[in-house]
Amino acid sequence: MTNKRKISILGSTGSIGRQALEVIEKLADKFEIIALTGGSNTELLTEQALKFKPKYICTGKKTSINIAGIKTLYGTEGLEEICSNKENDIILVAVSGKIGLRPTLKAIENGIDIALANKETLVMAGDIVMQRAKNLGVKIIPVDSEHCAIHQCIKDIKQVEKLIITASGGPFLNKTVTDMKNATVSEALAHPRWNMGRKITVDSATLMNKGLEIIEAHHLFNMPYDKIDVVVHPQSIVHSAIEYVDGSVIAQLGLPSMHIPIQYAITYPERFAGIKSKSFSFAEIARLDFEKPDFNKFPSLNFAYHAGKTGGSATVCLNAANEEAVFAFLDGKIKLYDIYSITEEMMNSHNVLQNPTIDEIFDIDNEIRIKTQELINLTHV
Ligand code: NDP
Ligand code: MG
Repeated sequence: MTNKRKISILGSTGSIGRQALEVIEKLADKFEIIALTGGSNTELLTEQALKFKPKYICTGKKTSINIAGIKTLYGTEGLEEICSNKENDIILVAVSGKIGLRPTLKAIENGIDIALANKETLVMAGDIVMQRAKNLGVKIIPVDSEHCAIHQCIKDIKQVEKLIITASGGPFLNKTVTDMKNATVSEALAHPRWNMGRKITVDSATLMNKGLEIIEAHHLFNMPYDKIDVVVHPQSIVHSAIEYVDGSVIAQLGLPSMHIPIQYAITYPERFAGIKSKSFSFAEIARLDFEKPDFNKFPSLNFAYHAGKTGGSATVCLNAANEEAVFAFLDGKIKLYDIYSITEEMMNSHNVLQNPTIDEIFDIDNEIRIKTQELINLTHV
């Protein structure tokens, strides 16, 4: 990168956002920050703004933050204003939840490349997002470590036979279904390999995260669902792989750290020396294990394949029902395993709408959330 790359980070106060700022601090001569955004953590956002001096900041709700030389925005409109600023070369979308979708579409509309961490964007509206990006020649570079791995492996998508997504298996890999049924919130949040936001950590415990990643992969790489496999790999060293039609398998490996995929996505197609804890050594790692995922213990994988193959609003329903159930679990209202039964019930009762518009997607998302909360209140509170 000869000139400094101009970047905005949506969700700079979150797990991915904070690590992105660590990467940028290390590569300070390569980036200029246009905007940083947060939700409710205004203290951290202010601290980041004073340190990195962006042109804009944006908070979830209106605040009284007033920093000389920095314009303060708020809400989705604020995020959309940032994504309309063509000064940006790239926008890292690292907010959590559905809030990521409209700003991503706005950035695409303005021809701005996207480093995408927010998986809900593709799970809710992958067809529309990828089509619009393709039409306008906008790059969507994945940040999620599995998709980043696949992105690094693929030379020519037409020659790929299948994608192989790895899953660490989460904290309940070697526990029984009974252990899972009785799991406390802190047990579900104790992920063995990755330190992430609370919602995605619970999804990693139920393997719904892997389910959402199957859908993400389908959209990012335009790959049919029967050509996307999941394999459990507890060490999280092989971040994913692809098999070519000739039988060659190419995998991407590395020590588990989100700094690497974040840096890859925001510096693509270049590579720079970044944050690295130590040099990679096969001998030190010594062994890599793989096993088939247990679809009975983790029905979320079936839900995702089913919703993905059904298409239309089925994945909107899956995402919204699961997210509401996860929040209810984190609030102590339901047990971990209830997330499955609630999500399944919502999916079974959903009338799928094919080719929904963005407004219809948001309406359906809203409706499913209300119905999921009603179901939770009726049966569990
Ligand atoms: P966090 O919960 O740590 O961070 C979420 C970010 O979004 C925070 O900056 C938060 O602001 C902001 N935010 C949340 N709600 C709103 C809102 N209503 N309006 C504006 N901003 C909001 O999540 P993660 O960083 O873990 O994950 C972010 C996304 O990346 C998710 O979609 C996740 O699935 C995906 N991802 C994460 C990975 C990880 O390793 N963490 C790996 C792969 C994908 P605040 O905190 O100030 O309220
Ligand atoms: Mg992942």
